[in-house]
Amino acid sequence: MRETDVFSEIWTFICQHCSHVWQDEYEARHCDDGHGGDTVSWRYRGLCSMPPWANATCVNCEAAMVKVLPAVPPAVPPAVPPAVPPGSGDRRRPAGTGSAG
Ligand SMILES: [Zn+2]
Repeated sequence: MRETDVFSEIWTFICQHCSHVWQDEYEARHCDDGHGGDTVSWRYRGLCSMPPWANATCVNCEAAMVKVLPAVPPAVPPAVPPAVPPGSGDRRRPAGTGSAG
């Protein structure tokens, strides 16, 4: 078998028992199986593991009622909004006005 691609994927887990939400990073290693097919093996914290959706249990209450949401793509920095020009919406009172005494 030959590794073709390795992806790091962030999976979100939601406990339906205690509502605890957490994320874990899994590594999906795609290998060609030598017959023109593609197999995926999973690694978690550097160790071979089951797929994220298999046998998921809550890290908080250990319940097995865990909803597993698909992996999100790698974090992309949000688009930077255009800079607000200085002076807009910033009205300063001229000095010297006010209570004269
Ligand atoms: Zn839980």
